[in-house]
Amino acid sequence: MRATQLYAPTLRETPAEAEVISHQLMLRAGMIRKAAGGVYSYLPLAWRVLRKIEDIVREEMDAKGGQELLMPIIQPAELWQETGRWDVYGDEMFRLQDRHNRNFCLGPTHEEMITALVRFDVRSYRQLPLMLYQIQNKYRDEIRPRFGLMRGREFIMKDLYSFDRDEQGLDVSYRKMYDAYTNVFSRCGLTFRAVEADSGAIGGSGSHEFMVIAESGEAAIAYCSVCDYAANVEKAELKPIQQMHETQMSLIEKETPGTKTIEEVSAFLGITADKTIKTIAYQTEKGLVLALVRGDHAVNEIKLQNKLGCLQLELASEDAINTALDCVPGYIGPVGASNVTVVADETVMLMSNAVCGANSRGKHYLHVNPGRDFKPAIITDIRLIQENDPCPHCGQAVKTARGIEAGQVFKLFTKYSKALQATYLDENGKEKPLVMGCYGIGVSRTMAAAIEQNNDEHGIIWPAAIAPYHAVVVPINVKDNVQLELSEAVYSRLQSAGIESVLDDRNERPGVKFKDADLIGYPLKITVGPKTINEQLLEVKVRKTGETTFLSLADDYITAI
Ligand code: ATP
Ligand code: MG
Ligand code: MG
Ligand code: MG
Repeated sequence: MRATQLYAPTLRETPAEAEVISHQLMLRAGMIRKAAGGVYSYLPLAWRVLRKIEDIVREEMDAKGGQELLMPIIQPAELWQETGRWDVYGDEMFRLQDRHNRNFCLGPTHEEMITALVRFDVRSYRQLPLMLYQIQNKYRDEIRPRFGLMRGREFIMKDLYSFDRDEQGLDVSYRKMYDAYTNVFSRCGLTFRAVEADSGAIGGSGSHEFMVIAESGEAAIAYCSVCDYAANVEKAELKPIQQMHETQMSLIEKETPGTKTIEEVSAFLGITADKTIKTIAYQTEKGLVLALVRGDHAVNEIKLQNKLGCLQLELASEDAINTALDCVPGYIGPVGASNVTVVADETVMLMSNAVCGANSRGKHYLHVNPGRDFKPAIITDIRLIQENDPCPHCGQAVKTARGIEAGQVFKLFTKYSKALQATYLDENGKEKPLVMGCYGIGVSRTMAAAIEQNNDEHGIIWPAAIAPYHAVVVPINVKDNVQLELSEAVYSRLQSAGIESVLDDRNERPGVKFKDADLIGYPLKITVGPKTINEQLLEVKVRKTGETTFLSLADDYITAI
């Protein structure tokens, strides 16, 4: 590629709207342009990087037996109604209607679609296990799209779904994907950690997030350098701190009768500290009801899809679930039973969108009437794990870091297959639900994360595997024919050796070209100037280390590169 032809309109100034470095640098390097909040065009340099990440992802998915397909982005509401998620998904779902007023959404994820796809065609245990994936745009109307490609409303995701006969099979598939993800992020040249994760809104239990370590990361992780423990700090353990006595409860009732706001209830429960999540457990006649409440509203907004931002009920039995569901509408007012999904067999989760989306300032407790609806039993406190807290596995002091969630793997078990009646016949001819897992990688977010992790004051420093080009050849003066011819020769030798290169044949001052080269972040910069002509030496500078070497034109400099 010649720089005179390359469509990479670089900017000298940092656009004011860009808060994080990856967003600033992608705008400045002429890689992306904004179409609307959270919606971007990928220019040629960005598209090359994205395709490289996609290729790595494809190779690793295929290596584990994944088969690529492509499902529609437009999804009919009926599918989502079958699993109950049409109501549950909330404002994050982009919804649309066709000319006949039929409802559709733009796929934020594809569990429903893929389960409906395989339920017709997978009949027998002989067809299992099965792993299907796609790489495609996803649509989520995030409340706060920001940080460029990190939190877009249209973004590229790889999503793979596994189908197994039983939980042992799921364990195998899950392990394969965990390993594949480790390979993907290692091959992309990223420093990352797989951490135990909250299984969040998608459901299921058993989940890991792959966190690219970067200061700008929205997630906090805790890890132990002695054992292998690593977790999203929000997957904190419950630590009972206090029994709630009847008298305290009646006090709430007495002093603030009727409808309560979270502030009122918080005042009694002492929920004030920023990083504290309170769990209130209510003993109902038939089981234990556990409600998570978070005092920190700002975090609520960010974590809408997260356990922390929502109300969770953990129940002992099916009876208890029913009891709780009966209680729910009176308990949180605007949320109805249709907003409840069964996450795992013993857990019911109220989706955060319904709870906080409508009341994003934390008024979960509208119309709460604990005396009437529930009898309080225990209060427990979850404190987020902090630096130097004892490791839950080995007791050594944990460390903390910030991370960008670039991927996540989930065990879904039979949540979707049961809801959508996706079954198979086992060896004995018995009908069983498919046991599922789902596995996502944010391809466009991974590109941004790579920049967050690899940059300096001059620009991007691409890991070689995902760099848009490996090298740039810069003739100091293109008006000097000898320099230009030599540059052409070097460029064509690089190209034929498979080193993807750009020849900066623009009639610009060398300073301008060097600045652009650093900004765009080519791993190698090869300068052709008077020294090259006079001493027959090519100057090769490594972007990452700043190290400069001079290679003799007489030698096999391509191999040396
Ligand atoms: P987050 O916690 O950041 O909102 P998520 O947990 O909702 O992400 P998943 O449903 O696990 O996301 O989707 C799989 C992957 O898709 C994520 O790990 C992330 O890399 C990517 N992703 C999710 N939301 C976005 C977004 N708005 N913009 C870009 N990438 C995203
Ligand atoms: Mg999300
Ligand atoms: Mg997440
Ligand atoms: Mg996730």
